[in-house]
Amino acid sequence: MPNDYLIGTGIYDVTGPSAELGMMGMASIEQKTEGIHSRLFARAFIVCDQNSNKRVVILSADIWSCTQAVKMEVVKRLKAIYGNEFYTIENVLLSGTHTHSGPGGYSHYALFNLSILGFDKQNFECIVNGMVQAIKKAHENLAPGKIFIKSGNVEDCGNNRSPIAYEQNPASEKAKYNGNTDKEMLLLKFVKNDGEEIGCINWYPIHPTNRGNKNKLITGDNKGYASYLFEKEKGTNINAKETFIAAFANSNCGDVSGNIKYGVPDLIHDFAHMKEYGDKQFNKAKELYNSANNQITGEVDYRHTHVDFSKVQIDGTKNKTFPAALGASMFAGSTEDSKSEFGIFEGIKATLTGDYPSGQKNLILEAINLISGLVTGFKVPGILEDEMKKGHYPKPIVFAQGLAEPYPLSPEVLPLQIIRIGNLVLLGTSFELTTMSGRRLRESVLEILKSAGIDHLVLATYANAYSGYITTKEEYDIQHYEGASTHFGPFTLMALQQEFGKLAAAMKDGKNISAGPVPRDLSSEQTNLQTGVVTDTQPMPWIPFGGTQTDVDSSYKAGSIVKVIFWGAHPKNNLRTQETFLEVQKKEGDKWVTIFNDHDACTIFEWKRDFIANSKITITWNIPVDTKQGEYRICHFGDSRDASGKIKSYTGISSTFKIGESAAVNEINFKNSFGKQVELWFYHPNDWLKWSAYAHQILRKDESFVWKVPSGWGKVQVRFTEPNKWKTISIGESVNIKVNGEIERLVS
Ligand SMILES: [Zn+2]
Repeated sequence: MPNDYLIGTGIYDVTGPSAELGMMGMASIEQKTEGIHSRLFARAFIVCDQNSNKRVVILSADIWSCTQAVKMEVVKRLKAIYGNEFYTIENVLLSGTHTHSGPGGYSHYALFNLSILGFDKQNFECIVNGMVQAIKKAHENLAPGKIFIKSGNVEDCGNNRSPIAYEQNPASEKAKYNGNTDKEMLLLKFVKNDGEEIGCINWYPIHPTNRGNKNKLITGDNKGYASYLFEKEKGTNINAKETFIAAFANSNCGDVSGNIKYGVPDLIHDFAHMKEYGDKQFNKAKELYNSANNQITGEVDYRHTHVDFSKVQIDGTKNKTFPAALGASMFAGSTEDSKSEFGIFEGIKATLTGDYPSGQKNLILEAINLISGLVTGFKVPGILEDEMKKGHYPKPIVFAQGLAEPYPLSPEVLPLQIIRIGNLVLLGTSFELTTMSGRRLRESVLEILKSAGIDHLVLATYANAYSGYITTKEEYDIQHYEGASTHFGPFTLMALQQEFGKLAAAMKDGKNISAGPVPRDLSSEQTNLQTGVVTDTQPMPWIPFGGTQTDVDSSYKAGSIVKVIFWGAHPKNNLRTQETFLEVQKKEGDKWVTIFNDHDACTIFEWKRDFIANSKITITWNIPVDTKQGEYRICHFGDSRDASGKIKSYTGISSTFKIGESAAVNEINFKNSFGKQVELWFYHPNDWLKWSAYAHQILRKDESFVWKVPSGWGKVQVRFTEPNKWKTISIGESVNIKVNGEIERLVS
């Protein structure tokens, strides 16, 4: 018994409003939800030490980040259910995967709600409730079991998006590492003593931003997609009492992106890129899962404190942190992941007096203070004290949100948390750490805990709150996006290392640590400018909700696309949590059996407003090439609100259609004479939805390959990676990829 823990896992839906709510991460006012590509989930793991009865909760949700407001409310509700004894602020770690394609508005701090137009109660409630339900399920599933650990490198899965900043770090330090991003994925596998496999969680640093700032469909991006693949393979049933869950959590990905290889997302190729980065994480996780045999044993422990980051003194120096402020380059955005809305670029530095360089003055930056004041009702000082300017130097402060009145627009009293399970510790932090900052933090804390038998340390980022980036001092000094977004100045990383060091020392020595200052409670201060659903109307009195506007065809071939448009209602009326807005059904005997829903990658649920209060619902199904022949139909489920505010469910059903034999396939023949391996990516020339199950192919040196083109494609765009070139090729052609990367058309 001493070697085993009590373990339990649980999953619950946190998919917020899928229409007309600003999405979180890209800070684009235009990016509002218009549908669902995949649902978002909270996945919870509980580990309880049977000897001491100490327990910890580790939760990862497909959201941009946890916020202080979410953490406080989740813990409050857990205490209401279980009393004060089990789950507290100290032993519950809530983290976001950092997807940028989920609805926002769930922070109590105005800076993070600016592009959302305020706090959104419905989404906040959905996220909080989903986390509580996931933890509740995990609690109810607790039983004796084992945890296995395994790590390995994921190759070619993300690049450093600010390599110039990374290069500023000392050569001797860089020489210790292989490359400018961390490649290690660390995975935990949970198996009950009765043999039941109940889940896995891994940490790997990469921004889930393959779907760019033009995307309006809710999706967990590359990490959500990897979870989807793993859970699909394991037959996960989210409504079962107990089921297998696969969490893909994030780590020090502050400067790591999956958009370097292919450029800024363009809406056409983004799904294929998300799939590529999702596949890579899924494949590695599966390999680690299947080979994990190193059991974790030893005590469960934790430490937690709050630190006021507006004034941390670095011991033994004159250096300190300062109230939060953003630099000019923050408003450039990360130019590698999205294009700036403000027409400015990264790397803007302050003059020697700490002022904004006059040659680069941008009227929009000046307007930001004004606009945010108008929107939020806050006063942000325009003229700053010399001490503040010097404290952030060489960041040219354009927005001092930490000095806003009546209170800061982003949090400064921040949570630090260490969770120990045997020889593994997790550091739960609210900061987005760049690769090198993460390495420094990891090493300094590991150094302290080594003698306590700790040999694995995971940085669990986007946890318990959100507080901007952290770069190293050297990276900060050249003020790229991440440096400009380091809220508390050049010494923030040192402050974080110092304070985590105290926590680690307390854990090592078995001592308690002070709870620190209490973060302010802003729950009663929230407002929203986005109008809710007033009423839903039908296009014509005789057309019911759920009536079809454009029905399906009578037959399709596998590999092609079904599209049906329903007259529907606003998805905010009912989020259909743990349910679905659509089903693809197949006729089996005289019954209709559901084969896909709105979480599946081959389906898309889209909402558009029509006229004033009509809703047009488009459902797309990319019929997988291996779909069996038979009769099918598509259903839409929704809820309408009448003028008196009453909400009523409705169902729309398409006509029945047949799926016949797979499309008469046409072929393209490839021969690889390039001299080494070539990767092929196939895209439809003008519709990104027409991705195929065969979208990616590796063609080894001197190999030939016949690609079967799905029906209706006409020409095909092929991208060769290495040589990185685009070519449009017609069906029926035979092409030879030559040494120089050019292609030779053999037959046409
Ligand atoms: Zn980020």
